[in-house]
Amino acid sequence: MDKAQIAKIEEAYLLAEKAHEPQKRQSGEPYIIHPVAVATTLAELHLDPETIMAALMHDVIEDTPVAKSVIIDKFGETVAELVDGVSKLTQMPFRNKAELQAESFRKMILAMSKDLRVILVKLADRLHNMQTLGVVSAEKRRRVARETLDIYTPLASRLGMHKLRTQLEDLCFEALYPYRSSVLSERLNKIYGNRKEVISVISEAIERACKLHRLPHLEVSGREKHLYGIYKKMRDRGLSFIDVTDKYAFRIIVDNIEDCYRVLGYVHNLYKPVPERFKDYIAIPKANGYQSLHTTLFGPYGVPIEIQIRTRLMQEMAENGIAAHWLYKSSDPNQNTDARIRAQAWVSNLMEIQRKSDSTTDFIENFKVDLFPDEVYVFSVDGQIFELPRGATAIDLAYAMDSNLGNTCVAAKLDKEYLLLSSPLVNGQVVELICDKNAHPNALWLDFVVTSKAQSAIRHYLKNQLSNDTLLTGENLLAKALAKFNVQLAQVKDDHFAALIQELNLNNKSELFEKIGVGVFVARLIAERLANIVVKGTHPEDAVHSMQKNESLYIEDSNGYKIVLAECCYPIPEDLIIGEVLPAKNMLVHMGNCASIVARKNKECVSLIWKDHIKDQFAAEISVRVLNKVGMLNKLTTAITMMQTNIEDFYAYHLNDYERVLVLIVMVRDTIQLNEIMNEIRTLEYVQSVSRGKIV
Ligand code: MN
Repeated sequence: MDKAQIAKIEEAYLLAEKAHEPQKRQSGEPYIIHPVAVATTLAELHLDPETIMAALMHDVIEDTPVAKSVIIDKFGETVAELVDGVSKLTQMPFRNKAELQAESFRKMILAMSKDLRVILVKLADRLHNMQTLGVVSAEKRRRVARETLDIYTPLASRLGMHKLRTQLEDLCFEALYPYRSSVLSERLNKIYGNRKEVISVISEAIERACKLHRLPHLEVSGREKHLYGIYKKMRDRGLSFIDVTDKYAFRIIVDNIEDCYRVLGYVHNLYKPVPERFKDYIAIPKANGYQSLHTTLFGPYGVPIEIQIRTRLMQEMAENGIAAHWLYKSSDPNQNTDARIRAQAWVSNLMEIQRKSDSTTDFIENFKVDLFPDEVYVFSVDGQIFELPRGATAIDLAYAMDSNLGNTCVAAKLDKEYLLLSSPLVNGQVVELICDKNAHPNALWLDFVVTSKAQSAIRHYLKNQLSNDTLLTGENLLAKALAKFNVQLAQVKDDHFAALIQELNLNNKSELFEKIGVGVFVARLIAERLANIVVKGTHPEDAVHSMQKNESLYIEDSNGYKIVLAECCYPIPEDLIIGEVLPAKNMLVHMGNCASIVARKNKECVSLIWKDHIKDQFAAEISVRVLNKVGMLNKLTTAITMMQTNIEDFYAYHLNDYERVLVLIVMVRDTIQLNEIMNEIRTLEYVQSVSRGKIV
């Protein structure tokens, strides 16, 4: 600053000191220390003289008899507007404190839309007030911290001022949860104490590598951790302290972009990079303008090292966002005004919200929603608020409330209307969950839930469920298949099984059933071989060769393979098909998209085509999802019989309280006939959906 500017700032200080003279902070100190602290924060951010003057006088209009006109006369319109922008409305009568706060806040946002520096002063003001919260009552401390987390930290985040945001967040964390904060801080200090040596080994190695290549002006720092950030990760993602802090993080600051890429080369040469973890946010900045190179390395003691490499300017932008603009605008007008353009665009968007809001309270609510663009807030019936990522559904909400609620959720209601479990929730909705202790999670949910908590809970359930279910399914499939050879499962003794189990390289009977259940083995093939052993006492290997039915007739170029149509997917003519090559010149034909084939990628497969003009009947599997209504089954079977179609097999299961799934094996010529049948079923009352195969 030049001499005239410094003199003006001194003048502002003197005016403030005199105006606040009789006042004391709650700590008993002279009031003036507060505006001086605010001005210091802004000076450290290299803000311009006008902002510093405004910071020194920011409480003058609100708290002392000095009028706005006095500031206009002495310091000009701009400074006076900045001061006025952060001043609460005191002259107007308000019904209550909340209304006063809401209206004052709106006024500040309006002032901010004219001059962004208003919010910088306000944030610096809030920072000092948070730093000196120690002296106020616990109740007020919590209220102020809550308000800061609700409004000011997201605001700072929106403006890219992450350093200030993390400072504010840690102060709020301490005010709201003093015990948690101190425990975490202690653990963190301990970890850093233990890691000191490793950290210095790594940073020295990096520095040495750079010096070797004569790279000047380099700063290496083990990144400082942000307490509230650690706490939030642990809370929101259910992680342990060690999960969050198990990485070593370093930041390397250099002079220019070229050096960033050079350093990247040196560190990759020093420790091996983890593949696919490298991100070039310099060439392609993040949406918020953030620039840096990110890479992860395998460190010297097997620890993963996360490295960020950026220039000083990028560092300034990453930490101070729009505030950095004032530092650089004089030296390089073209560089990184992005943050400011974005901030301006956002503020004009706020003005739009302001125009569309009916009342001030409305505006604050909409403003808050806008501050958290990626979250929705919904309520449970008992008024508890839940914060969920955008796109979250009632199932996500159920799991967020309680895993057990999620596992047994069958429906959700919104104002007495049923809500589709898959539809995304909207801000402010009050959602009533309907649970049934006998219900269980549905694999279909995995398609639409967005929270990791819901996803992992559903997967966990399904995985445990799968082995019991598939075992039974496999046993049933085998029993049924054996029946076709006039053999009862009970007739098959362990001796009979033993040879086959050994040949198939399995451990026991259960494994065989399980593999049949998931479709690795075809029940019909296994049954045939077992039947041969039981009835004729034939050796299993001969049994394969004595297969009676040969479906090779249906397939072009079967090259002497014995063809069997798989019963995991029931392919029929016109379907795209592939053949799975089995031992002893057997081939199993699947639909091209059969899940059991997709799941076993290493299987040897060949693509096949159907012969033309096949005149035969084939088994096809369809699933019909219906409402649980009396007579439903009768209607369905009648409709199918009317179409001159045989139902070869049939079973049903509960999908949930009010829906059933009917799985039918029908005999058809080809996909054309099958589609006709499916279309006919779709027209029936109470039918929700009809699909090929099983509903997973
Ligand atoms: Mn203040």
